[in-house]
Amino acid sequence: MSQKERRFSFEFFPAKTEAGHEKLLATASQLAAKKPDFFSCTYGAGGSTRDRTLTTVLQLDGEVKVPTAPHLSCVGDTKPELRALLAHYKDAGIRRIVALRGDLPSGMGMASGELRYANELVEFIRAETGDHFHIEVAAYPEVHPQARNFEDDLANFVRKVKAGADSAITQYFFNADSYFHFVERAEKLGVSIPVVPGIMPITNYTKLARFSDACGAEIPRWIRKQLEAYGDDIASIQAFGEQVITDMCERLLEGGAPGLHFYTLNQAEPSLALWNNLKLPR
Ligand code: FAD
Repeated sequence: MSQKERRFSFEFFPAKTEAGHEKLLATASQLAAKKPDFFSCTYGAGGSTRDRTLTTVLQLDGEVKVPTAPHLSCVGDTKPELRALLAHYKDAGIRRIVALRGDLPSGMGMASGELRYANELVEFIRAETGDHFHIEVAAYPEVHPQARNFEDDLANFVRKVKAGADSAITQYFFNADSYFHFVERAEKLGVSIPVVPGIMPITNYTKLARFSDACGAEIPRWIRKQLEAYGDDIASIQAFGEQVITDMCERLLEGGAPGLHFYTLNQAEPSLALWNNLKLPR
């Protein structure tokens, strides 16, 4: 597969403040210059960012002029709430959506939504809007933290594909073999949709370690120990992180990955550095 046939995308989260929003727009404009296939914008499960996600998506899509996919999660949202959002996005000409179960913030108790798993949300979107949306779902090469085991989680991934997902984006990982293993096993179960690696740039060790523990992404010991050794030396952490992730992306693309999805955390430079190192097209 040539670089041109692959798809490249950048993910943002909706900012909480006016200043954060301005920074997000500046970041998005810088990244738009690379002509990515799309942007995406996360959604706070339970609807905590419902309005901010909607506003951000419409602005990125309409003003920054990169097709933008809202993330939509089902836990904690009712069917009428989901239906209203889908209608709003459809009317605004949005064509891609990232469909997720979501994680309710602690303290919100059990899910009050009517749909429990992402496969049910994919079914719901198809029932409500037919083929209007290209539906992305999440994939977990290192296994979702709540799954009993790899096989169960893979079977649940296949349910989402059978429900009508068009492609998938993975949770981030630092071990390319986990990705190749996941794709190979999924293909053996008949999955033929693109599974695009989600790429997390390494810029800050403490935050990365905390986040990785929560979402089940393993930081290999050799990477952890090297990052720990740098202590507060941010420049060394970033230089080392950039090299590690560039090498991994090269391996992924050489091994047939159908593109890359960058978790930007609303910062342009780390993703741009990877993009330039990889000499991505456009
Ligand atoms: P599911 O596919 O529903 O899986 C969740 C768990 O349930 C897994 O353990 C799975 O094995 C199991 N399971 C799935 N289906 C069934 C079934 N039918 N019966 C029994 N068990 C089942 N979170 C947000 O809140 N907002 C976001 O914007 C957001 N964006 C994300 C983007 C990407 C690319 C990724 C990878 C994750 C994102 N997340 C986001 C995090 C995601 O919501 C969490 O990882 C969540 O815990 C699982 O969501 P899912 O859609 O993968 O769930």
